[in-house]
Amino acid sequence: MKVGVLALQGDVPEHLRALAQAVPGSSPIAVRRPDDLAAADALFLPGGESTTIARLLQEARLWEPLGARLRDGFPVLATCAGFILLATALSPGASGIDPPTFGALDVTVRRNDYGAQRESFEGPVRIEGLAGPAYPGVFIRAPRILAVGPRATSFAWVGHEVVGVRRGAIWGLTFHPELSGDLRLHRMFLAAASRGASARAATTRARPPG
Ligand code: GLN
Repeated sequence: MKVGVLALQGDVPEHLRALAQAVPGSSPIAVRRPDDLAAADALFLPGGESTTIARLLQEARLWEPLGARLRDGFPVLATCAGFILLATALSPGASGIDPPTFGALDVTVRRNDYGAQRESFEGPVRIEGLAGPAYPGVFIRAPRILAVGPRATSFAWVGHEVVGVRRGAIWGLTFHPELSGDLRLHRMFLAAASRGASARAATTRARPPG
């Protein structure tokens, strides 16, 4: 399975490094152009600045093809700014201009909503299906999930607050697994994505010709 990291802006090297550690011997692709995206079987959307990433996606002519793949249920793990871009709705925050979004995850999100004093913090995240101790969540100018709609499933929490949702193979997190040094989430996502890829391949093989 070829795994890509959207490499237009943000913490791209950290994701590439975490992926190389999570799957030794793998060579993740830095996705900068439509043909890179076409070659990827799964994609990481990094944190950074969502307005900038949205603008660069449009300039690189990646917005339309990424939207099409998201509608097809392409496996994507989106973190922080990347997650903001997948929301169905943004609730205007103090920061002014919000980016356009793909609407792939049924959530309402407000950017930079943890306030100046707590712009960055660490918190123990409880993740459904993840064995072992709480996951160390690194939150940096994180968005807050204000509402989860019926087409998204919550799967990560700090206390009672939802910090991760998914819809099929599309996962969104308000924190940064690539910065925690804990590779369990990367591995969990990749295992789910590759099970999905094998299931799709089996369905294609089983389909009668013509
Ligand atoms: N505050 C950023 C935004 O709104 C996200 C921060 C991050 O990705 N660490 O785009």
